[in-house]
Amino acid sequence: MIRRTLEANILTKIMASIAATKTGAGANALAKRCVLLFRHTDLRVHDNLCLKRALELNVPLLPVFCFDPRYFGAKPTRYGNRRMSAKRSRFTIESVEDLRNNLRKQGLPLYVSLETPEKALEAVCNPTSDDSKTIVITSKEPCSEEVRVDSRVRRVLETKLNGSLETIWQRTMYHPDDLPAKGTIERLPLKFTPWRQVVENAKTPVRVPWSMSPNVAALTWPEEWLNRSSKGFAFLPTLGDLGHDDSGLDEGEDGGVMSDLEEGRFKGGESVALKRLKDWIWKDDCLAKYKETRNGMLGSSYSSKFSPWLAVGCLSPRTIYAECKRYERERVKNKSTYWLVFELLWRDFFQFQAVKQGNHIFLVEGPLGRTDRNYSREWPGSKSALERWKNGTTGWPLVDANMRELNATGFMSNRGRQNVASFLTLEQRVDWRHGADYFEMHLLDHDVASNYGNWCAAAGLFGGRVNRFNILKQSNDYDKSGEYVKRWIPELRDVPTQKVHAPWKMSKDEMKRSNCQIGQDYPEPLPSICEWNNKQSMSKKGQKDYGGSKKNNRYNSNKNGRGKKKFRPPSSFKGGNIGHL
Ligand SMILES: Cc1cc2nc3c(=O)[nH]c(=O)nc-3n(C[C@H](O)[C@H](O)[C@H](O)COP(=O)(O)OP(=O)(O)OC[C@H]3O[C@@H](n4cnc5c(N)ncnc54)[C@H](O)[C@@H]3O)c2cc1C
Repeated sequence: MIRRTLEANILTKIMASIAATKTGAGANALAKRCVLLFRHTDLRVHDNLCLKRALELNVPLLPVFCFDPRYFGAKPTRYGNRRMSAKRSRFTIESVEDLRNNLRKQGLPLYVSLETPEKALEAVCNPTSDDSKTIVITSKEPCSEEVRVDSRVRRVLETKLNGSLETIWQRTMYHPDDLPAKGTIERLPLKFTPWRQVVENAKTPVRVPWSMSPNVAALTWPEEWLNRSSKGFAFLPTLGDLGHDDSGLDEGEDGGVMSDLEEGRFKGGESVALKRLKDWIWKDDCLAKYKETRNGMLGSSYSSKFSPWLAVGCLSPRTIYAECKRYERERVKNKSTYWLVFELLWRDFFQFQAVKQGNHIFLVEGPLGRTDRNYSREWPGSKSALERWKNGTTGWPLVDANMRELNATGFMSNRGRQNVASFLTLEQRVDWRHGADYFEMHLLDHDVASNYGNWCAAAGLFGGRVNRFNILKQSNDYDKSGEYVKRWIPELRDVPTQKVHAPWKMSKDEMKRSNCQIGQDYPEPLPSICEWNNKQSMSKKGQKDYGGSKKNNRYNSNKNGRGKKKFRPPSSFKGGNIGHL
C-alpha cells in the first residue's frame, strides 16, 4: 500500500498545501473550466466547500467521481484483505447515486468513471478543440496515500492538460486555520485532553455550514463533449463491476442494528444522512440522553450512528455541530448535548494527528515508537488467534458477538471496538495492524485517520494510559442480561444468563440442558490474561508490571473495567514484527 510506505516530511507538505488553499484564488484566475473531483470522503452537496469554490469561479463546471481501483479494486492488502467489503462498496455506490440526484437538482450532471482520477481527467479535460485552462478542485485529505494521488493528478494536469489542481480542507469540525496558537497541528500533543482543553478554552469557532443557493445556475460543460460522453453520466457500477459477489447481501442481516429504521440498514447517501440527523436529534430527541445511552451495543438509537455518513462525506461535521447548538437553544442544553460535540472533537483530534504523525500511524511502533527511545514491543500473537478473532470464534462471547456483528453489518459500537481491539492487541498480542486492516475492509464508517489512530491508541502507541479491558467485567457492565451476545451468537441462546459471558464455566449438566457443548457447539476460549497468571510463560515481574493479580485473577480495573495503572510492558514485550504470524 502506498499509504503504508514512509514518506518524508509529510507534515510539512500537507501544512504547506493547507496554507496554499488560502491563496489559491489568484493563481487560478485564468481558468476557463472547472472539474469538481469528488472523493469517496466528500459525497454531498450541503456544506461542500469544493462545490462552493467551484461555483464562485463562475466558469463551466463538471462534477466527476472515480471508483478508483486503488480503493475499490480486488487487489488484497499486505494483510490479505480487500480494501472494501461488498457492503462498504454498496454504501459508496448508493452515496454516489444520491449525490448525482442532488447535483442534478442544481442542473449539474455527475460523470462517473471506473478509472483512476489521473486517467479519467485525460478524457474529461479534452472537451473540444479549444485549449482553455482547466482547474480541478478536490478535497484535501490528511494521509499520504491520498496526497500521493493528488500529486499524480497535479502532474498529469500540469504536464499534459494545461490544468492545475486546487485542494481544499473540509474534513474537520474545526478548520486548522482557526485553531489557537497552542493547539495547532504542529503543536498537537499525543494526548487528547490537553489539546481539547486548549481549543475549548480558546473558544475556537466552528465555521457556519455553507448551503447552496437554489437560484445558482452553474455554467455547463461544453455541449459537444457532454453528448459524446453521455455514457458516463448515466453509468453507476454494480457490485459485480467492482469484483464483488453480491449474493446474500440483502437478506435482512442488519437486524438489531438499524432494523427499526425505514431502510432497515445503513443506506448510503446525503439524503438518508440528513434524515438520520433530523430524526435522531429532533424527532426522537436522542441527543438529550446521548451521554447515558452512548455505551450501548444493541439497536439503532443508543448512539448517533452518524459515522458511516461522516466517513463518506454525506454528512458535514459542521452541520452536526450547528444542529447541536440549535437544539441547545431551542430544546435543552445538558451534558449529552455537550458530549456529542466532545466526540466530534475526538474525530478532529485523529484527523490532525494523521497529518502530524504522517505514516507513523501505519507503522508497527505507531506514534510512540517515533519519539520514545526506550520503545519496545513484541507481537507474538498467533495466526489462528487472528483468524478466530476475525470469524467471531474466540470463545469469548462479547468479542465474538461484536466481530459477528461487524461481519454481518459493517458496523460495531464504540464499546465493542474498544473491547475487540484490546483483546486482539493486549490479550492475544497480535500485531495491531492486522486488526486495523480488517476493520478497514469491513467498517462502513472506515475513516483512515480515525481507524488507524484508534488502533494505535488501543495498542498503547499513543503514550499515556492504555485501556486494557477486562472482557468479563465489560460484558457484565454493558450486557448484563446477555441479550446482546445472544442476538449474535445463537449457540448461546439457551445458556443461563449468569454463565452466558463465560459459558466454559457451565457444568456438564448445564451444557446438556442448554444444547451448548463447549468445544463442540461453541469454542473453548482462547487463553487470555486471566490464564497468563498461572499457565503461561510470563515472568513474575511481567505479571506484576501488567497489573495482573493472582488473587482475583483479573486485571486491576476501575468502575469502567479499565486498567488503572499506567501501562508498563513486561520484559517479554520487546520489539518485533508480524513475522510471528
Ligand atoms: C479500534 C477502533 C477503530 C475505530 N475506527 C473508526 C473508524 O474507522 N471510523 C470512525 O468514524 N470511527 C472509528 N472509531 C471510533 C468510534 O468507535 C466510532 O466513531 C463510533 O463508534 C461511531 O458510532 P456513532 O457514529 O454512533 O458514534 P457516536 O457515539 O454517536 O459519536 C458521534 C461521532 O463522533 C465521532 N467519534 C466518536 N468517537 C470517536 C473516536 N474514538 N474516534 C474518532 N471519532 C469518534 C464519530 O465521527 C461519531 O460518528 C474507532 C474506534 C476504535 C476503538
